[in-house]
Amino acid sequence: MTRFTLALILSILLAPLAGAAELPDPAAEYAARAAKLAESKDPKAWLKLADFAEEKLLWEKRLESLKKAVEASPENAEAHARLDERKGKDAWVPAEEADAHEAEEMQAKGLVYYGAKWIPAKEAAALREADRKACGWNCEVRIDTPHFVLYGGRTLALARRLAALLENDLAAYQRFYKGVWTPQPLAKPIKVYLFGDLDTYLKKLKIDLGQPVTGFTGLYSAVTKVCYLGFASDYKPGLDPDAYIEEQTARVAAHEMVHAFDDLISRAYTASPNRLDWVLEGRADHFGLSVLGRQVLPGHAQLLVVGGSSEDTAAVLKKVLSAPALADLLAMNTARFNGAGVREHYVTAWAWTHFLFHAEGGKYAAGFRKFLSGCPKQDSAAEFEKAVGRISVLEPAFKAYAENVLLPSL
Ligand SMILES: [Zn+2]
Repeated sequence: MTRFTLALILSILLAPLAGAAELPDPAAEYAARAAKLAESKDPKAWLKLADFAEEKLLWEKRLESLKKAVEASPENAEAHARLDERKGKDAWVPAEEADAHEAEEMQAKGLVYYGAKWIPAKEAAALREADRKACGWNCEVRIDTPHFVLYGGRTLALARRLAALLENDLAAYQRFYKGVWTPQPLAKPIKVYLFGDLDTYLKKLKIDLGQPVTGFTGLYSAVTKVCYLGFASDYKPGLDPDAYIEEQTARVAAHEMVHAFDDLISRAYTASPNRLDWVLEGRADHFGLSVLGRQVLPGHAQLLVVGGSSEDTAAVLKKVLSAPALADLLAMNTARFNGAGVREHYVTAWAWTHFLFHAEGGKYAAGFRKFLSGCPKQDSAAEFEKAVGRISVLEPAFKAYAENVLLPSL
């Protein structure tokens, strides 16, 4: 037998096995599912396909299937909400436009938006005064949504945008982690303080960093159950400051919301003494940087790589790729995660989370979800290997994924 024949036989024997182990490419799977639905007038089927696209980070396809849901059912409120549209006088329009139009009309009548509706200015002033006393800071704006109370914000428009995004965050979290944890209903709305400048934020939280801060920062306190967000005007010249602030605020909020939802909805997880910080922070950044950031809104998807945070993330990721030590990450306790090299730990945690949920068509996602849902015992590499796979196999696969998929997209 010549070497050529042997190679041929081996390739014939191996090909079907290798093929059987592979997952379909998400884009191809989407195309097949969309083709099957082509004539469907069932909005639920299209919304389900939008969930699939969202889970696989196929943003254009997500929009496509949401638009199909609207085509199938023009008054479908969920589809419109996920497209960030609101019902105007006689048509659904982008929420931003609807807000601006409404504000113009109401302000002309001397009304002020406070809480959940437009009310006379005098009434709003009294409510604001009471809230200022209760919050302990000078909040101007208050927006009530079904699951959130948002205080503050530079402008009413920004606060209303963020309030809408928070509801989106919650719905996306519930879709993404369905089956991982048994969600608990929120006992009361989540309070979010949005400070118009970083100084107020730092003072309120009694944080002294001893140096000037740029950029955006946020914090969720499991003690007060309040999410605090602050921002500084560090936007780059040439960018639209409002769009930049909106985008960065949305990202930081999405990150902090994962902490809030973990704490308030999936309590079993955060309450676990074995909880791992890389799992908390990696998943929070996964939502902030990769999921909610990009799902946000039609026309906004391109905004999300401005501002420098991604360039910075890329630089750090390049550095950590030289030694993608998963066993080390799995054994990292809170003190070490937040100690020396904390920035690297965040980026490592985000990149691994991204890999585990999305690499190779989601090959590891089911195992990783299983690992997450078994959280009370998730403090060992053995537990992880049993649920997800061998560390020695995952590390080179991670490195290749980060180099070929994560770095180019940053
Ligand atoms: Zn965090």
